[in-house]
Amino acid sequence: MPSAPDFEDRVADWLSVEEATARVLDTAGPDRGESERVLLSDALGRALAEDLHATATLPPWDNSAMDGYAVRGSDVAGASRDHPVVLRVVGLLRAGDLPSSPVAAGEAIRIMTGAPLPEGADSVVRREDTDGEGEVGRVRILDDRDAGRNVRPGGQDMRAGDLVLESGATIDPGVVGVLAALGRADVLVHRRVSVAILTTGDELRPADRYDDVRSGAGIPDSNGPMLAAAVRAAGATPVVLDSVPDDRGAVVDALECAKEAGVLVTVGGASMGEADVVKRALEDAGLALDFWRVRMRPGSPFSFGYLPRGERRQVVFGLPGNPASAFVTFELFVRPFLLRVGGHRRVARRAIACRAGEDLKGAEGLTLFTRVVIDTSVSPPTVRATGPQSSGLVSGLAHADGLAMIPEGRGSAPEGSTVDVILLGHGTSGPPVPPARGAPAA
Ligand code: AMP
Ligand code: MG
Repeated sequence: MPSAPDFEDRVADWLSVEEATARVLDTAGPDRGESERVLLSDALGRALAEDLHATATLPPWDNSAMDGYAVRGSDVAGASRDHPVVLRVVGLLRAGDLPSSPVAAGEAIRIMTGAPLPEGADSVVRREDTDGEGEVGRVRILDDRDAGRNVRPGGQDMRAGDLVLESGATIDPGVVGVLAALGRADVLVHRRVSVAILTTGDELRPADRYDDVRSGAGIPDSNGPMLAAAVRAAGATPVVLDSVPDDRGAVVDALECAKEAGVLVTVGGASMGEADVVKRALEDAGLALDFWRVRMRPGSPFSFGYLPRGERRQVVFGLPGNPASAFVTFELFVRPFLLRVGGHRRVARRAIACRAGEDLKGAEGLTLFTRVVIDTSVSPPTVRATGPQSSGLVSGLAHADGLAMIPEGRGSAPEGSTVDVILLGHGTSGPPVPPARGAPAA
Protein backbone atom coordinates (compact mmCIF):
# COMPACT_ATOMS: atom_id res chain seq x y z
CA MET A 1 0.00 0.00 0.00
CA PRO A 2 1.40 3.47 -0.87
CA SER A 3 1.59 6.06 1.92
CA ALA A 4 -1.10 8.74 2.21
CA PRO A 5 -1.34 10.99 -0.89
CA ASP A 6 0.58 14.25 -0.84
CA PHE A 7 -1.14 16.22 -3.60
CA GLU A 8 -0.74 19.90 -3.20
CA ASP A 9 -3.53 22.46 -2.95
CA ARG A 10 -2.28 25.61 -4.49
CA VAL A 11 -4.18 28.66 -5.67
CA ALA A 12 -3.58 29.21 -9.35
CA ASP A 13 -3.64 32.65 -10.99
CA TRP A 14 -4.89 31.45 -14.37
CA LEU A 15 -3.70 34.57 -16.21
CA SER A 16 -4.55 35.12 -19.85
CA VAL A 17 -1.64 34.68 -22.30
CA GLU A 18 -1.58 38.46 -22.89
CA GLU A 19 -1.46 39.26 -19.19
CA ALA A 20 1.25 36.68 -18.53
CA THR A 21 3.31 38.01 -21.43
CA ALA A 22 2.96 41.58 -20.17
CA ARG A 23 3.94 40.59 -16.62
CA VAL A 24 7.05 38.79 -17.89
CA LEU A 25 8.13 41.51 -20.30
CA ASP A 26 7.53 44.32 -17.80
CA THR A 27 10.26 42.90 -15.62
CA ALA A 28 12.64 42.78 -18.58
CA GLY A 29 11.99 46.52 -18.70
CA PRO A 30 14.61 49.11 -19.45
CA ASP A 31 17.50 47.04 -18.04
CA ARG A 32 19.51 46.73 -21.21
CA GLY A 33 22.47 44.96 -19.63
CA GLU A 34 26.15 45.63 -20.13
CA SER A 35 27.93 45.83 -23.43
CA GLU A 36 31.12 44.48 -24.94
CA ARG A 37 33.06 45.01 -28.14
CA VAL A 38 33.19 42.07 -30.56
CA LEU A 39 34.64 41.53 -34.03
CA LEU A 40 32.17 41.81 -36.88
CA SER A 41 32.75 38.11 -37.57
CA ASP A 42 31.41 37.29 -34.08
CA ALA A 43 28.51 39.72 -34.09
CA LEU A 44 25.82 37.61 -35.79
CA GLY A 45 22.66 37.38 -33.69
CA ARG A 46 23.79 39.97 -31.13
CA ALA A 47 22.01 43.23 -30.35
CA LEU A 48 23.75 46.47 -31.27
CA ALA A 49 24.58 48.56 -28.18
CA GLU A 50 25.39 51.83 -29.95
CA ASP A 51 23.82 54.18 -32.46
CA LEU A 52 25.96 54.29 -35.58
CA HIS A 53 26.31 57.32 -37.85
CA ALA A 54 27.89 57.36 -41.28
CA THR A 55 31.36 58.91 -41.37
CA ALA A 56 31.51 58.82 -45.16
CA THR A 57 29.08 59.58 -47.97
CA LEU A 58 28.16 56.54 -50.07
CA PRO A 59 28.44 56.35 -52.92
CA PRO A 60 30.95 59.20 -52.72
CA TRP A 61 30.02 60.51 -56.20
CA ASP A 62 27.51 59.87 -58.98
CA ASN A 63 28.53 56.61 -60.62
CA SER A 64 27.62 54.26 -63.38
CA ALA A 65 25.01 51.53 -62.94
CA MET A 66 26.09 49.82 -66.18
CA ASP A 67 29.02 48.83 -68.33
CA GLY A 68 28.78 51.19 -71.32
CA TYR A 69 29.46 54.78 -72.36
CA ALA A 70 29.08 57.94 -70.29
CA VAL A 71 27.49 60.56 -72.55
CA ARG A 72 25.37 63.68 -72.61
CA GLY A 73 21.73 62.62 -72.95
CA SER A 74 21.06 65.44 -75.41
CA ASP A 75 23.75 64.00 -77.74
CA VAL A 76 22.08 60.60 -78.08
CA ALA A 77 18.43 61.70 -78.30
CA GLY A 78 16.89 60.16 -81.42
CA ALA A 79 19.64 57.52 -81.90
CA SER A 80 18.45 54.28 -83.50
CA ARG A 81 19.92 51.37 -85.45
CA ASP A 82 18.92 53.11 -88.68
CA HIS A 83 20.18 56.49 -87.52
CA PRO A 84 23.06 55.87 -85.15
CA VAL A 85 24.78 58.74 -83.36
CA VAL A 86 28.57 58.60 -83.58
CA LEU A 87 30.57 59.92 -80.60
CA ARG A 88 34.30 60.32 -80.01
CA VAL A 89 35.62 58.11 -77.21
CA VAL A 90 37.96 60.24 -75.10
CA GLY A 91 38.70 58.03 -72.09
CA LEU A 92 38.08 54.96 -69.98
CA LEU A 93 36.82 54.77 -66.38
CA ARG A 94 36.70 51.65 -64.22
CA ALA A 95 35.45 51.12 -60.68
CA GLY A 96 38.30 52.32 -58.49
CA ASP A 97 39.34 55.13 -60.85
CA LEU A 98 38.96 58.71 -59.72
CA PRO A 99 36.72 61.09 -61.70
CA SER A 100 38.44 62.07 -64.94
CA SER A 101 38.30 64.93 -67.40
CA PRO A 102 34.79 66.00 -68.41
CA VAL A 103 32.73 64.73 -71.32
CA ALA A 104 32.10 67.46 -73.84
CA ALA A 105 29.39 67.60 -76.51
CA GLY A 106 29.95 64.90 -79.15
CA GLU A 107 32.12 62.86 -76.77
CA ALA A 108 31.78 59.65 -74.77
CA ILE A 109 33.88 57.93 -72.11
CA ARG A 110 33.91 54.14 -71.90
CA ILE A 111 32.79 53.38 -68.34
CA MET A 112 32.37 50.30 -66.11
CA THR A 113 29.77 49.69 -63.38
CA GLY A 114 30.64 51.57 -60.19
CA ALA A 115 33.08 53.99 -61.84
CA PRO A 116 32.56 57.70 -61.07
CA LEU A 117 30.53 59.53 -63.68
CA PRO A 118 32.66 62.16 -65.46
CA GLU A 119 31.58 65.76 -65.30
CA GLY A 120 29.36 66.78 -68.20
CA ALA A 121 27.80 63.31 -68.57
CA ASP A 122 24.26 62.65 -67.36
CA SER A 123 23.65 59.21 -68.90
CA VAL A 124 25.31 55.84 -69.41
CA VAL A 125 24.37 54.02 -72.60
CA ARG A 126 24.59 50.28 -72.02
CA ARG A 127 27.20 48.42 -74.06
CA GLU A 128 24.48 46.39 -75.85
CA ASP A 129 23.04 49.56 -77.42
CA THR A 130 26.37 50.43 -79.09
CA ASP A 131 28.71 48.91 -81.65
CA GLY A 132 31.38 48.63 -78.92
CA GLU A 133 33.77 50.92 -80.86
CA GLY A 134 33.81 49.02 -84.17
CA GLU A 135 35.98 51.86 -85.38
CA VAL A 136 38.80 52.66 -82.94
CA GLY A 137 38.10 55.83 -80.96
CA ARG A 138 34.46 56.07 -82.13
CA VAL A 139 31.31 54.54 -80.73
CA ARG A 140 28.02 54.25 -82.57
CA ILE A 141 24.99 54.67 -80.30
CA LEU A 142 22.15 52.50 -81.64
CA ASP A 143 19.32 53.37 -79.23
CA ASP A 144 18.38 56.39 -77.13
CA ARG A 145 16.48 54.56 -74.36
CA ASP A 146 19.30 55.21 -71.87
CA ALA A 147 19.28 59.00 -72.30
CA GLY A 148 19.16 60.39 -68.74
CA ARG A 149 19.50 56.90 -67.21
CA ASN A 150 21.88 54.47 -65.47
CA VAL A 151 23.41 57.00 -63.11
CA ARG A 152 23.47 56.16 -59.39
CA PRO A 153 23.44 59.43 -57.47
CA GLY A 154 26.20 60.12 -54.94
CA GLY A 155 24.95 59.98 -51.33
CA GLN A 156 21.96 57.82 -52.24
CA ASP A 157 22.98 55.12 -49.72
CA MET A 158 24.07 57.37 -46.84
CA ARG A 159 25.53 60.78 -46.18
CA ALA A 160 28.22 61.50 -43.61
CA GLY A 161 26.44 62.19 -40.32
CA ASP A 162 23.28 60.16 -41.11
CA LEU A 163 22.02 57.86 -38.34
CA VAL A 164 22.28 54.49 -40.12
CA LEU A 165 21.82 51.84 -37.39
CA GLU A 166 20.15 52.19 -34.03
CA SER A 167 21.05 50.57 -30.74
CA GLY A 168 18.90 47.49 -30.21
CA ALA A 169 19.04 46.31 -33.83
CA THR A 170 19.52 42.56 -34.13
CA ILE A 171 22.65 41.87 -36.17
CA ASP A 172 21.71 39.69 -39.13
CA PRO A 173 23.73 39.25 -42.34
CA GLY A 174 22.18 42.40 -43.84
CA VAL A 175 23.20 44.44 -40.78
CA VAL A 176 26.73 42.98 -41.01
CA GLY A 177 26.85 44.31 -44.59
CA VAL A 178 25.84 47.78 -43.40
CA LEU A 179 28.36 47.67 -40.53
CA ALA A 180 31.07 46.83 -43.05
CA ALA A 181 29.87 49.73 -45.23
CA LEU A 182 30.30 51.97 -42.17
CA GLY A 183 33.91 50.83 -41.96
CA ARG A 184 33.46 48.88 -38.75
CA ALA A 185 35.84 46.02 -37.94
CA ASP A 186 34.27 45.61 -34.51
CA VAL A 187 31.07 46.71 -32.87
CA LEU A 188 29.61 47.32 -29.42
CA VAL A 189 26.95 44.72 -28.57
CA HIS A 190 24.92 43.81 -25.51
CA ARG A 191 26.35 41.07 -23.35
CA ARG A 192 24.83 37.63 -23.57
CA VAL A 193 22.59 36.67 -20.67
CA SER A 194 23.47 33.35 -19.00
CA VAL A 195 20.57 30.97 -18.49
CA ALA A 196 20.78 27.97 -16.15
CA ILE A 197 18.56 25.08 -17.26
CA LEU A 198 17.50 22.61 -14.60
CA THR A 199 15.59 19.51 -15.65
CA THR A 200 14.02 17.36 -12.98
CA GLY A 201 12.46 13.92 -12.88
CA ASP A 202 13.39 10.46 -11.58
CA GLU A 203 12.56 9.07 -15.02
CA LEU A 204 14.88 11.26 -17.10
CA ARG A 205 17.88 9.77 -18.88
CA PRO A 206 20.60 11.61 -20.84
CA ALA A 207 21.89 10.18 -24.13
CA ASP A 208 24.59 8.10 -22.46
CA ARG A 209 21.95 6.21 -20.46
CA TYR A 210 19.67 5.51 -23.40
CA ASP A 211 19.81 1.76 -22.66
CA ASP A 212 17.34 2.49 -19.86
CA VAL A 213 15.03 4.10 -22.40
CA ARG A 214 15.27 1.05 -24.67
CA SER A 215 14.45 -1.25 -21.79
CA GLY A 216 11.49 0.90 -20.71
CA ALA A 217 13.12 2.03 -17.46
CA GLY A 218 13.39 5.72 -18.28
CA ILE A 219 12.42 8.45 -20.72
CA PRO A 220 14.87 10.57 -22.70
CA ASP A 221 15.66 14.05 -21.40
CA SER A 222 14.70 15.86 -24.57
CA ASN A 223 13.93 19.15 -22.87
CA GLY A 224 17.43 19.88 -21.57
CA PRO A 225 19.14 19.92 -24.99
CA MET A 226 16.07 21.43 -26.67
CA LEU A 227 15.95 24.37 -24.28
CA ALA A 228 19.72 24.86 -24.45
CA ALA A 229 19.33 25.22 -28.22
CA ALA A 230 16.37 27.58 -27.77
CA VAL A 231 18.38 29.73 -25.34
CA ARG A 232 21.26 29.89 -27.81
CA ALA A 233 18.88 30.80 -30.63
CA ALA A 234 17.60 33.66 -28.45
CA GLY A 235 21.14 35.07 -28.27
CA ALA A 236 21.78 33.95 -24.67
CA THR A 237 24.23 31.44 -23.17
CA PRO A 238 22.83 28.18 -21.81
CA VAL A 239 24.30 26.55 -18.70
CA VAL A 240 22.81 23.07 -18.60
CA LEU A 241 22.88 21.56 -15.11
CA ASP A 242 22.79 17.82 -14.56
CA SER A 243 19.23 16.58 -14.41
CA VAL A 244 18.12 15.96 -10.82
CA PRO A 245 15.70 13.40 -9.36
CA ASP A 246 12.38 14.36 -7.75
CA ASP A 247 13.99 14.99 -4.41
CA ARG A 248 13.55 18.31 -2.64
CA GLY A 249 17.09 18.28 -1.22
CA ALA A 250 18.64 17.47 -4.61
CA VAL A 251 16.70 20.32 -6.22
CA VAL A 252 17.78 22.74 -3.49
CA ASP A 253 21.43 21.74 -4.09
CA ALA A 254 21.00 22.25 -7.84
CA LEU A 255 19.47 25.68 -7.25
CA GLU A 256 22.62 26.61 -5.36
CA CYS A 257 24.71 25.59 -8.40
CA ALA A 258 22.56 27.87 -10.56
CA LYS A 259 23.08 30.96 -8.45
CA GLU A 260 25.54 32.74 -10.75
CA ALA A 261 23.28 32.56 -13.81
CA GLY A 262 21.36 35.65 -14.90
CA VAL A 263 18.18 33.65 -15.40
CA LEU A 264 17.01 30.24 -14.19
CA VAL A 265 14.74 27.95 -16.18
CA THR A 266 13.41 24.91 -14.33
CA VAL A 267 11.63 22.18 -16.25
CA GLY A 268 9.17 19.69 -14.85
CA GLY A 269 7.73 19.24 -11.40
CA ALA A 270 5.58 22.24 -12.11
CA SER A 271 2.17 20.88 -11.28
CA MET A 272 0.42 19.55 -8.21
CA GLY A 273 1.61 15.95 -8.24
CA GLU A 274 3.34 14.63 -5.19
CA ALA A 275 6.64 14.29 -7.03
CA ASP A 276 6.40 17.93 -8.10
CA VAL A 277 9.06 19.10 -5.71
CA VAL A 278 10.52 21.92 -7.78
CA LYS A 279 8.12 24.57 -6.59
CA ARG A 280 8.52 23.44 -2.98
CA ALA A 281 12.32 23.56 -3.31
CA LEU A 282 12.11 27.01 -4.90
CA GLU A 283 10.00 28.17 -1.99
CA ASP A 284 12.62 26.79 0.41
CA ALA A 285 15.14 28.93 -1.44
CA GLY A 286 12.95 32.04 -0.96
CA LEU A 287 11.10 32.22 -4.29
CA ALA A 288 8.92 35.28 -4.71
CA LEU A 289 6.26 33.90 -7.04
CA ASP A 290 4.82 36.42 -9.48
CA PHE A 291 2.25 34.07 -10.99
CA TRP A 292 1.47 30.42 -11.61
CA ARG A 293 -0.74 29.05 -14.36
CA VAL A 294 -1.78 30.58 -17.64
CA ARG A 295 -4.98 29.95 -19.59
CA MET A 296 -3.22 28.13 -22.42
CA ARG A 297 -2.67 24.67 -23.82
CA PRO A 298 -0.13 23.25 -23.87
CA GLY A 299 1.77 24.77 -20.96
CA SER A 300 -0.78 25.94 -18.38
CA PRO A 301 1.36 25.04 -15.30
CA PHE A 302 3.92 27.70 -16.29
CA SER A 303 5.21 29.86 -13.43
CA PHE A 304 7.25 33.02 -13.13
CA GLY A 305 9.04 34.55 -10.16
CA TYR A 306 12.33 35.60 -8.58
CA LEU A 307 14.91 34.10 -6.29
CA PRO A 308 16.87 36.37 -3.98
CA ARG A 309 20.56 36.04 -4.84
CA GLY A 310 22.33 38.38 -2.44
CA GLU A 311 21.85 41.89 -3.79
CA ARG A 312 20.38 40.56 -6.98
CA ARG A 313 17.06 39.02 -8.00
CA GLN A 314 17.31 36.04 -10.32
CA VAL A 315 14.35 35.68 -12.68
CA VAL A 316 12.96 32.12 -12.56
CA PHE A 317 10.83 30.55 -15.26
CA GLY A 318 9.11 27.32 -14.24
CA LEU A 319 8.33 25.33 -17.38
CA PRO A 320 6.09 22.27 -17.38
CA GLY A 321 7.91 19.05 -18.23
CA ASN A 322 5.90 17.80 -21.18
CA PRO A 323 8.09 18.58 -24.21
CA ALA A 324 5.45 20.46 -26.20
CA SER A 325 4.54 22.46 -23.08
CA ALA A 326 8.17 23.33 -22.43
CA PHE A 327 8.66 24.29 -26.08
CA VAL A 328 5.57 26.50 -26.32
CA THR A 329 6.03 28.27 -22.97
CA PHE A 330 9.67 28.96 -23.83
CA GLU A 331 8.60 30.44 -27.17
CA LEU A 332 5.88 32.60 -25.68
CA PHE A 333 7.51 33.85 -22.49
CA VAL A 334 11.20 33.01 -22.14
CA ARG A 335 12.38 33.84 -25.64
CA PRO A 336 11.01 37.41 -25.78
CA PHE A 337 12.26 38.01 -22.25
CA LEU A 338 15.80 36.87 -23.14
CA LEU A 339 15.81 38.97 -26.30
CA ARG A 340 14.72 42.04 -24.38
CA VAL A 341 17.28 41.68 -21.59
CA GLY A 342 19.81 40.91 -24.33
CA GLY A 343 19.12 44.40 -25.70
CA HIS A 344 17.11 43.47 -28.79
CA ARG A 345 14.51 46.02 -29.84
CA ARG A 346 12.35 43.47 -31.63
CA VAL A 347 11.37 40.54 -29.45
CA ALA A 348 8.14 39.16 -30.90
CA ARG A 349 8.01 36.53 -33.61
CA ARG A 350 6.09 37.46 -36.75
CA ALA A 351 2.54 36.18 -36.90
CA ILE A 352 0.60 35.85 -40.16
CA ALA A 353 -3.02 35.11 -40.99
CA CYS A 354 -3.32 31.63 -42.51
CA ARG A 355 -6.10 29.40 -43.73
CA ALA A 356 -6.88 26.33 -41.66
CA GLY A 357 -6.30 23.41 -44.02
CA GLU A 358 -8.25 21.13 -41.69
CA ASP A 359 -10.41 21.55 -38.61
CA LEU A 360 -8.20 22.79 -35.78
CA LYS A 361 -9.50 22.10 -32.30
CA GLY A 362 -9.86 24.85 -29.75
CA ALA A 363 -10.11 24.53 -25.98
CA GLU A 364 -12.79 25.77 -23.63
CA GLY A 365 -11.42 28.73 -21.66
CA LEU A 366 -7.84 28.29 -22.89
CA THR A 367 -5.81 29.70 -25.78
CA LEU A 368 -4.72 26.74 -27.82
CA PHE A 369 -1.36 26.61 -29.61
CA THR A 370 -1.29 23.97 -32.32
CA ARG A 371 2.04 22.99 -33.84
CA VAL A 372 1.49 23.36 -37.58
CA VAL A 373 3.13 22.84 -40.94
CA ILE A 374 2.63 25.84 -43.26
CA ASP A 375 2.10 25.42 -46.99
CA THR A 376 3.27 28.71 -48.50
CA SER A 377 2.84 27.52 -52.09
CA VAL A 378 -0.86 28.47 -51.90
CA SER A 379 -2.59 31.74 -51.10
CA PRO A 380 -3.43 32.34 -48.35
CA PRO A 381 -0.77 30.15 -46.71
CA THR A 382 -2.47 27.06 -45.36
CA VAL A 383 -1.74 25.21 -42.14
CA ARG A 384 -2.22 21.67 -40.90
CA ALA A 385 -1.40 20.19 -37.52
CA THR A 386 1.97 18.42 -37.37
CA GLY A 387 0.10 15.35 -36.10
CA PRO A 388 -1.36 14.41 -32.73
CA GLN A 389 -1.10 17.34 -30.36
CA SER A 390 -0.72 15.66 -26.97
CA SER A 391 1.73 17.76 -24.97
CA GLY A 392 3.83 14.69 -24.15
CA LEU A 393 4.80 14.15 -27.79
CA VAL A 394 8.12 15.40 -29.07
CA SER A 395 8.47 14.24 -32.70
CA GLY A 396 6.09 16.83 -34.20
CA LEU A 397 8.35 19.62 -32.92
CA ALA A 398 10.90 18.71 -35.59
CA HIS A 399 8.68 19.86 -38.43
CA ALA A 400 6.58 22.58 -36.83
CA ASP A 401 6.82 25.75 -38.95
CA GLY A 402 4.55 27.67 -36.65
CA LEU A 403 2.11 27.77 -33.78
CA ALA A 404 -1.52 28.33 -34.79
CA MET A 405 -3.15 30.39 -32.08
CA ILE A 406 -6.79 29.69 -31.34
CA PRO A 407 -7.84 32.22 -28.71
CA GLU A 408 -9.93 31.27 -25.72
CA GLY A 409 -13.61 31.78 -26.42
CA ARG A 410 -13.27 31.05 -30.12
CA GLY A 411 -14.02 27.36 -29.92
CA SER A 412 -12.41 25.54 -32.81
CA ALA A 413 -11.12 26.84 -36.14
CA PRO A 414 -12.99 24.95 -38.87
CA GLU A 415 -11.31 24.08 -42.15
CA GLY A 416 -11.23 27.17 -44.38
CA SER A 417 -11.35 29.68 -41.54
CA THR A 418 -8.57 32.15 -40.80
CA VAL A 419 -6.11 31.53 -37.95
CA ASP A 420 -3.18 33.61 -36.73
CA VAL A 421 0.06 31.66 -36.88
CA ILE A 422 3.27 32.54 -35.04
CA LEU A 423 6.17 31.79 -37.36
CA LEU A 424 8.95 29.74 -35.77
CA GLY A 425 12.62 30.01 -36.59
CA HIS A 426 14.09 30.35 -40.03
CA GLY A 427 11.79 27.86 -41.72
CA THR A 428 12.49 26.86 -45.28
CA SER A 429 9.87 25.61 -47.69
CA GLY A 430 9.42 23.59 -50.83
CA PRO A 431 10.30 19.99 -51.58
CA PRO A 432 13.62 18.65 -50.31
CA VAL A 433 16.40 19.36 -52.81
CA PRO A 434 17.99 16.16 -54.19
CA PRO A 435 21.72 15.78 -53.56
CA ALA A 436 23.95 17.45 -56.15
CA ARG A 437 25.30 15.12 -58.81
CA GLY A 438 28.72 13.95 -57.79
CA ALA A 439 27.96 14.48 -54.10
CA PRO A 440 29.28 11.62 -52.01
CA ALA A 441 26.60 9.03 -51.25
CA ALA A 442 25.21 9.39 -47.73
P1 AMP B 1 6.21 17.08 -14.89
O1 AMP B 1 6.06 18.50 -15.34
O2 AMP B 1 7.45 16.82 -14.10
O3 AMP B 1 4.97 16.58 -14.23
O4 AMP B 1 6.40 16.23 -16.20
C1 AMP B 1 5.35 16.06 -17.11
C2 AMP B 1 5.74 15.07 -18.18
O5 AMP B 1 6.88 15.56 -18.88
C3 AMP B 1 6.15 13.72 -17.64
O6 AMP B 1 5.66 12.73 -18.51
C4 AMP B 1 7.65 13.76 -17.68
O7 AMP B 1 8.23 12.48 -17.83
C5 AMP B 1 7.92 14.61 -18.89
N1 AMP B 1 9.20 15.32 -18.76
C6 AMP B 1 9.59 16.04 -17.70
N2 AMP B 1 10.81 16.54 -17.90
C7 AMP B 1 11.19 16.13 -19.14
C8 AMP B 1 12.38 16.32 -19.91
N3 AMP B 1 13.40 17.03 -19.44
N4 AMP B 1 12.43 15.77 -21.13
C9 AMP B 1 11.39 15.05 -21.59
N5 AMP B 1 10.25 14.83 -20.91
C10 AMP B 1 10.15 15.36 -19.69
MG1 MG C 1 8.23 15.24 -13.13
